Amino acid sequence: MANRIGKDDLRNTKEFYPIRLGFYGALSEGDLKRHIDNDTLVYKHWHLQSLNLQMVTRQGFIFSNSNGSIRYSLTLKIEANTLYIACDCDRRVERLCHHACNALKHLISIKGESVFSGKLA
Ligand SMILES: [Zn+2]
Repeated sequence: MANRIGKDDLRNTKEFYPIRLGFYGALSEGDLKRHIDNDTLVYKHWHLQSLNLQMVTRQGFIFSNSNGSIRYSLTLKIEANTLYIACDCDRRVERLCHHACNALKHLISIKGESVFSGKLA
C-alpha cells in the first residue's frame, strides 16, 4: 500500500469539484487558472462554440457545452460561496477538465467576474 499520489487519487470529472469564491461570489480568470491541471493548460484545447442553460434541477444548473457534434453536460451549483462544477466527459483529472475550465472562462468573459454571485439564470 504505497502512500503516494497515483491515478486512483484523481477525481472523475462527473464528481463535483469545488472552487471557493471570493468576495460577493467573485471569480477572476486569474483565480480560475489555479484550478487547471498542468497538462490541461499545456496541450488541451476545447473550442467552445456554445454554452446553453438546459435545465435547473436540484443537482444544479445544467448547461450544454458543445463544439460541433461533441457535446458535454456541465453542472454548476453554488453553495455557501463555493462553486461546484461537474462535467460528464468522464475523465480522471486532478482539478478541472478543459471543457469545464473553458466554459467557466467563457461565463466570466461575457458576464463578468461576479457571474457566480447570483443565480446564473
Ligand atoms: Zn470535461
